[in-house]
Amino acid sequence: TTFIGASFGGIAEMYAQIQKAVGATERVFELLEETPEEINAKPRLSAVEKIKGNVSFNNVAFSYPSRKEVQVLKDVNFTAEFGQKIAIVGPSGAGKSTISSLLLRFYDITSGQILVDGKNIQDYDLEDLRGNMSIVPQDVILFGGTIRENIAYGNPNATEEEIITAAKQANAYNFVDGFPEKFETLVGERGVKLSGGQRQRIAIARALLKNPSILILDEATSSLDSESEKLVQEALEVLMEGRTSIIIAHRLSTIRNADKILVLDNGKISEEGTHQELINLENGIYKNLSNLQFSNS
Ligand code: ATP
Repeated sequence: TTFIGASFGGIAEMYAQIQKAVGATERVFELLEETPEEINAKPRLSAVEKIKGNVSFNNVAFSYPSRKEVQVLKDVNFTAEFGQKIAIVGPSGAGKSTISSLLLRFYDITSGQILVDGKNIQDYDLEDLRGNMSIVPQDVILFGGTIRENIAYGNPNATEEEIITAAKQANAYNFVDGFPEKFETLVGERGVKLSGGQRQRIAIARALLKNPSILILDEATSSLDSESEKLVQEALEVLMEGRTSIIIAHRLSTIRNADKILVLDNGKISEEGTHQELINLENGIYKNLSNLQFSNS
């Protein structure tokens, strides 16, 4: 399968992402079978150590292989320059998560191009491509193992000091240090139960260790308590520093300072601009979403 050649960290992340994507472990293998054969095709680019992090979608159209009759994305165009924060908002089912799956190349697009640093992602070695990306999913699933192992998935060669630094930067150190067994504490089914916010901070520490150029953040839909929310948000700010971030946003409050907001509606980008620009669009979707969210909170 596609996953055999990937690094340990890569597998863990992909697995977590797939689990998230399908919502049930039993379906993991089904999804693996859906991964198109061509994805294993020989890369045309020689090994790339470090990707800079420019991303562009050019006229991207996509249908899931299992539902070819439905076009999930239509003529999607956007660019994210190195270091920018690009937020994607839109109603449920609009295709936001699909954009992140395509960037990670879980599927190949139907037409158009996805470029990373100006090169087609299909020409990269998958390990090189995914080795330069991290995803912090909505619902982080940790592996049965210790907290240390879960953080070190991001970089199996990390030193003790690097692990501690990453945990501190991710606002995870204090709660980990509060457990009797600290970094050796077992998590997962047979270990301690961590809150959603704590699991996210472990995933952030893992991503910090991996040090990717491109970051995909899938914001949690279920609200965390406000203290945890603040700690996660702070940690994410640190993580986004100096990387290209694609943020799938469910709450508009966290993306006000994004460099660009894309409003996706039924597989198409219907509005694009900064918060200020979009808020001024008469009858705009963003403006309406924004009025709704802020009047409710
Ligand atoms: P949400 O905000 O609810 O997470 P979204 O904007 O992220 O939604 P996607 O998850 O990208 O939307 O889904 C876009 C469309 O693609 C939906 O119609 C969905 O049913 C369909 N879809 C998603 N995953 C698959 C899949 N693996 N196979 C077939 N169709 C899928």
